[in-house]
Amino acid sequence: MPNETTSDDDGLLCHRCGAQLTPGEGSLYIVRIEAFADPTPPTLSRDEPLADITAQIDQLIEHMRDMSAQELMDQVYRRLTLFLCWPCYQQWIEAPTG
Ligand SMILES: [Zn+2]
Repeated sequence: MPNETTSDDDGLLCHRCGAQLTPGEGSLYIVRIEAFADPTPPTLSRDEPLADITAQIDQLIEHMRDMSAQELMDQVYRRLTLFLCWPCYQQWIEAPTG
């Protein structure tokens, strides 16, 4: 793992192998990842009594009460920017889901 604290070098480091990356040399790749939770609303069956649905929502709210706002956000949406060197990029793009 590359050291998280910024060194005195104007260093961009490869997020995979920690290699020094030099912008302008054409040897570095920027990977932007946006991840969303499934935005499809849950299907509520019309037959289900309203009381049941209300109880389900109450349960959900109860569950969410234990989580921080950040945790809730992270469950719905994450956005990452990764810097990769050329060899790491080649490996990663062939199997981005690992
Ligand atoms: Zn690398």
